[in-house]
Amino acid sequence: MVKVKAAVLESVSKISLKEVENPSADPGGLVVEVRACGVCSTDVKMWKKGQRDLRCPRILGHEVAGVVVESRSNAYSVGDRVQIFPGVSCGSCHKCRTGRDNLCDKIKIIGFSYDGGFAELMKVPPELVRINGINKIPNGLSYEKATLTEPLACCLNCADKLRISSDDTVLILGAGIMGILNVVLAKLRGAHVIVAEILKDRMRFAMKAGADRVIDSNHENLKDAVLDETRGRGVDAIIPAFGEAISAYPVFDLLSKGGRLCLFSGIPKPESIKLVDFNLLHYEEKMLVGSYGCTSTQNRRAIDLLTKDLKLDWLPVRTIGLDEIEEGLRSTDAKAQLRIVVKS
Ligand SMILES: [Zn+2]
Ligand SMILES: [Zn+2]
Repeated sequence: MVKVKAAVLESVSKISLKEVENPSADPGGLVVEVRACGVCSTDVKMWKKGQRDLRCPRILGHEVAGVVVESRSNAYSVGDRVQIFPGVSCGSCHKCRTGRDNLCDKIKIIGFSYDGGFAELMKVPPELVRINGINKIPNGLSYEKATLTEPLACCLNCADKLRISSDDTVLILGAGIMGILNVVLAKLRGAHVIVAEILKDRMRFAMKAGADRVIDSNHENLKDAVLDETRGRGVDAIIPAFGEAISAYPVFDLLSKGGRLCLFSGIPKPESIKLVDFNLLHYEEKMLVGSYGCTSTQNRRAIDLLTKDLKLDWLPVRTIGLDEIEEGLRSTDAKAQLRIVVKS
């Protein structure tokens, strides 16, 4: 039996490079040779602490781009370059039928409940092919850049929920990769963008991404800086792009009347259980919304944006081999790099 290499999470905090069985396609499914797979902070979280939907042993990696090497589906051929949407939804429940497949009750996720892309070869389940989760990568878009599709789509979900437009001043808390992608999307919609960050190199990337003002929250008082930048008005929308942002900053105080706050990333407990002064929603029409992952439609829109509008050539990407996965997870956790992509 031919074996292939994969980085397997055997139990929480134990990931190792292993030889696994060569996958073969189920009827209607595919096998993809992985050309690039992004390392995400969710992978770090699963490696360090586990996750509600994670079952070990598991091959992690849900930001996958590769080439089809076996097809048992009429829609795809060997040699097709594809990006894989990680949400395997049922396709028939109320949420799926109304375009909110990210909220499907029966959803399973590649890299959580199916083996993912930290491997030489990846099996694509027929259910994912059936719901149009496999997107052909247009010419001119590299595998490496195509791995940004899913993270960008998650930011699109947030921008859609906030209805960001050119009338808005948007505050983005944190300039990790998700913060940066939120900046470029808000700029694309013509918004005025403020970013708050503590790491010097990330402040620089926020400027490159097009931020109009970057607040060094080590040295500047965030509320004073926001009021200064908005002539005392406050911002129209806030995107907390790291889990602790909500407890670190007085977010509701930074919003102008009618301002919107989108809970974009998970909040560690017990901070997640907080009292909100709901009168702020009534008297000042402040709005509180959430976004979780992305829909398959947003994923398709993101691939289109990466091909046409967002070249992101300045974005620093470090590529590593499968055998360096543990170091890659550690560096991502330590915020040593903005973006790491595994190439097998
Ligand atoms: Zn991710
Ligand atoms: Zn469903």
